[in-house]
Amino acid sequence: MQQVAEKYGIPFEDVFFLDLNLSGIKVDMRCSRVRFQVTQQNPYFVTSMERGESDYFFGLPVRPKSQHRVDMVNNTMTFGGETIGIVRDLANDTCDTTYPRKGGAVMNLNANSKSSCHGCAFCHTLKQTPKDREDVSTESSLRNFIDRWLQKYNVSDLSYLEQVAVVTGCFGGEKKTLDHLIMVRKVFKDYGYEGELFYFGSEIRSDDALMKLKREAEPFAICISMECFTNRERWLRDIKRDLTINEIKRILKTSLDLGFNTNFSYILGLEPLEVVKKGFEEMLPLINRFPVINVFQPHTDGQEILRYKDAWDIGYYMKARKFLEDMFSGTNMRPRPWENYRALWYLTFGKEKLNGTRTP
Ligand code: SF4
Repeated sequence: MQQVAEKYGIPFEDVFFLDLNLSGIKVDMRCSRVRFQVTQQNPYFVTSMERGESDYFFGLPVRPKSQHRVDMVNNTMTFGGETIGIVRDLANDTCDTTYPRKGGAVMNLNANSKSSCHGCAFCHTLKQTPKDREDVSTESSLRNFIDRWLQKYNVSDLSYLEQVAVVTGCFGGEKKTLDHLIMVRKVFKDYGYEGELFYFGSEIRSDDALMKLKREAEPFAICISMECFTNRERWLRDIKRDLTINEIKRILKTSLDLGFNTNFSYILGLEPLEVVKKGFEEMLPLINRFPVINVFQPHTDGQEILRYKDAWDIGYYMKARKFLEDMFSGTNMRPRPWENYRALWYLTFGKEKLNGTRTP
């Protein structure tokens, strides 16, 4: 990995964390995913040490053959037997109703039981332990939830939040999704929150729905969960596969015209790089926020066959980094470390430093 970092002129951390996400982790726990914080110690992590940024967070598939391991006796993370850092808060990565990001400044709401949403070939919800059956989908249940939140964190209102994100499985239709978003905005406003309402999904599609969100939910942001450019009928679940790339472009364009923060999500590792490059070039004029690019994490041997043949080599990801850095260099869009723990970038984007909170 050191050689790869030197060859591409990037910090060792960027190669190491990428490899960790691609490989998963071996740990003696009976679950399919784990999450934990790690404080880097190994002298290879020079850039982290220089910056005084040694705390990271990961959510990873449990993979028995991985060279990355958690030693549960010593609470350490190791690679090839060498100690890398101290592990804290190791836990089953359950699918939760709500969870924080950005050091608690962002509240993610999974109001519609994402763990019940299945069907996309690359998705890991099927393998996660559900802990998202608490109902926060109605106004009264959401208010009860927020009341408990205020008590738990000993705060008087939610004005301290920077973003509320509705990140959930499919609602089953646009109307239900739209009603939910409007309701969330209304309830959070009553609790002093006037910041961005961020929707991550693929069910808000019509101009009418977007215009209603403009009237009733601003400031609003949308990330269309696009995931892939090709094989959409094969890889995506029933109610998602009818959303074509052309349709996504139309939604992005309308969203941009309405002044929303607009982007899409993509899973890197499923398609040839020519497809990725061409797809991103076409999407670039239709977004104003850096796309959420997750690297593909297979959770089972069966899912491994989805990984594109070239994507077994770290060079695939290095090439993608380079052309995406070139493509976005003339824009002000950059990856945000706090919103993506399985990213393509960690400490640098081209020659620029990426800074900010990296733990929930
Ligand atoms: S829509 Fe697909 S990717 Fe999203 S939670 Fe459901 S199965 Fe997973």
